Amino acid sequence: MSAFSAPFGLLLDVDGPIASPVARRIVEPSILPDLVALATAGVPIAFITGRSAVFVRDEVAARLVEAGLPDGAPVFAVMEKGGAWAPVTPAGLGAVELDDALAIPADVTEAVHTLARAEYAHAMEVDEGKHVMISLEARSDIPHEDYWPARDEFQERVWQLLVERGLGLRYGERMQADARGEVPWRIDPTIISTDVESVLLDKDRGAARALEWFAARGVTAPRWYSAGDSRSDYLMADHVHADGFEAVHVDVRPSDGMLDRDYPVVTMGELIHDEAGAAFLRERVAELGL
Ligand SMILES: [Mg+2]
Repeated sequence: MSAFSAPFGLLLDVDGPIASPVARRIVEPSILPDLVALATAGVPIAFITGRSAVFVRDEVAARLVEAGLPDGAPVFAVMEKGGAWAPVTPAGLGAVELDDALAIPADVTEAVHTLARAEYAHAMEVDEGKHVMISLEARSDIPHEDYWPARDEFQERVWQLLVERGLGLRYGERMQADARGEVPWRIDPTIISTDVESVLLDKDRGAARALEWFAARGVTAPRWYSAGDSRSDYLMADHVHADGFEAVHVDVRPSDGMLDRDYPVVTMGELIHDEAGAAFLRERVAELGL
């Protein structure tokens, strides 16, 4: 890859702006060809997600390859909220690197997985693809109303299990420091999952990892668009802005409450989720006259 300054780069959350939150895969027909067109023109594109490498390999990288991703296109993926990363090439997702310093200790992961499998298998499944964080996902064959009580009870058990092992931990309003007075871990509930992870894993870390990876390959851009459906996705633009680049954040689920920032935050009219993501990519393709 030779040094090239694209007019802009893209930092994209996957579930929401790219993959349908309902189908949990890429369904909008223009998204893959537009991503390939932009990458072919030299636009750096990073997917920044809490998902595992397995998901990104199958649902993003393989789909881009099918759509004709060329050799040398600057495409990168950050998984597990910054804990894992790999390039995307015509061969698919490349070798995955892990941030071992932020990984949950293996014996803790084992204990949490064992608890989930032994007592909560009726409600949740272990995400086997995770290596740095722990994710337990709601079974897709039960209603959310049946999942939530199991999730809450499970999280309480996880809290006790980790505190007993001496881990410094945050869960909602609760905080328990470790013997050194530190709180390196957190339990992070969502409506469809429980994550247990380093407090340092988040979208700003993912953005930082992506910009560093591109910079190390001579790829840069004066403006970085980020797109996402969660409030935490604003952290990508926060990082870009703090780094001194022009940041623009595209909020594809503004009904959750748009955040007030020192950089532009935009929406795609009435469109939301991957329909907004598709319209946003169409605009970028048009901007470059592709
Ligand atoms: Mg999302």
